[in-house]
Amino acid sequence: MTTLRLRNTLTRTVEPVEAPPDGAVRMYTCGPTVYRWAHVGNLRSYLLADVIRRALLYHGVPVLHVKNITDVGHLRDERFDRGEDRMLVAAGLESKTPAEIADAYEAGFHADEALVNILPAHVFPRATEHVPEMLDLAERLEASGHAYLSPAGNLYYEVGAFPEYGRLSGNTLDALRAGHRGEVEPDKRDPADFALWKAAGEGRLLKWDSRWGEGYPGWHLECSAMAMRYLGPRFEIHTGGIDNVFPHHEDEIAQSAPVVGGVPARHWVHGEHLLMDGSKMAKSAGNFERVTELAARGMDPLALRYLAFTVRYGRKLNYSHASLAAAAAALSSLRSRVAALGAPPADGRWGPPPPLRAGAAGDRPTGIAIGAAGHQADPVLAAESDRFPLTDRAGDPSARLSATGRALHDRFVAAIDDDLDLPTALAVIRETLRSDVSPDEKRWLVLDADLVLGLDLDRATDSAAATDGEMRDDERALLAARGAARAARDWARADALRDELAAAGIEVADGPGGTTWRRTGDAAS
Ligand code: AMP
Ligand code: ZN
Repeated sequence: MTTLRLRNTLTRTVEPVEAPPDGAVRMYTCGPTVYRWAHVGNLRSYLLADVIRRALLYHGVPVLHVKNITDVGHLRDERFDRGEDRMLVAAGLESKTPAEIADAYEAGFHADEALVNILPAHVFPRATEHVPEMLDLAERLEASGHAYLSPAGNLYYEVGAFPEYGRLSGNTLDALRAGHRGEVEPDKRDPADFALWKAAGEGRLLKWDSRWGEGYPGWHLECSAMAMRYLGPRFEIHTGGIDNVFPHHEDEIAQSAPVVGGVPARHWVHGEHLLMDGSKMAKSAGNFERVTELAARGMDPLALRYLAFTVRYGRKLNYSHASLAAAAAALSSLRSRVAALGAPPADGRWGPPPPLRAGAAGDRPTGIAIGAAGHQADPVLAAESDRFPLTDRAGDPSARLSATGRALHDRFVAAIDDDLDLPTALAVIRETLRSDVSPDEKRWLVLDADLVLGLDLDRATDSAAATDGEMRDDERALLAARGAARAARDWARADALRDELAAAGIEVADGPGGTTWRRTGDAAS
């Protein structure tokens, strides 16, 4: 048992996260669909998983993290089974192959995650590389009487054969059936049934052979199959946005439970949506922004991370240029108060925590980073504390804190453990900076807490401090946005950002060792 408590959608209560006997928590996060850019709403959901992971690491609990890449354009609304393959639509619009589309947007996703300091998952399994696992699961469900082949050649999951269907979302089958009136696929036995495998229609590019003929998998199948492959039959945490509860996670449970003998994940954690103009930020609605866009406006991408922490993850959060600007101002005021405490001594009692940067997009694994050992990923976990050394230093009994300092630290940890109460955690950080503990101890406490927060609170922000060796936040954001554009192979955008930097008097050069920059002294004023 760990001290971290999280709300479990399945039980509708806040419960401690359990660590299994080998001590490592296994976590699956529903990742991006790579036919368009990820938006800052998607990032809010990935930030939730990132803070869970950091909080567990802070408590000395290793985490094996899997985040899938949906690179086959499924029907996103399986209730109607009438959608189009968005990957193919995107490919047609951009005159590219589905693989080219997926590669570009996947690279963009990694770059976006890096901009907001999200620690890279250990495995980013791609759906298209796990079709055999999906077919195997579908065959087992057919054999166990949970699925049937329709006259039209589609394999459907029969929800009536799984008595617990609806437990996660609180839906009853009757309500679901009523909701389908007029929208029913004629070859389904029950309107609430959902597709495991669909027969390939005319002209479909992405299709695979199966015992039921050429076709493609249902969207939910990939997460059941890939979680099982990399995390084993049972794992501790499954995360996603609130829209994933139904049908995606409900269907994932229905698919996995008959095979693994119960609900696959113990803890189901769902983040509320990021809103824009009062409604859910969504690719399809067109009301979205990318993190690179805010970076290109000269905004520090970590302002988005700060904004996400100003409201608890279970509540809706409004995204606007004004809310983001307020977050950026609050973040920069925190950083300047930390900077005013002076640089930490190199070592000794008040030395800095080990440096922890989530890494540039280019350092991230793509696809499968661990071998066939799958969930017996001991080497990965053994290396985890070296890769991300973010243990709670005050938890060490030899840490000699003042009574006030210790109380502030304990309140910070209690807020995090209380279902990630980040607004309170941020308030404790501000209180720490106002408190009468010594400057050394203050800095030590705040930088320690930043291992969980990931806000780079040690970064100097004073624009006067921007000399040859330093960059202002807006300049750094432009450089980061250019790096992200390059990682996503968006060369036109990268060139435009290079020109903007040049106009600000900064020349960038790309070499084998990475990108370097220098001030030219001729900024256009
Ligand atoms: P998608 O690429 O649409 O499959 O979404 C990827 C992840 O982002 C899923 O976990 C969604 O639940 C989540 N998500 C989508 N839109 C939002 C939003 N506006 N706010 C927060 N999370 C979202
Ligand atoms: Zn999923």
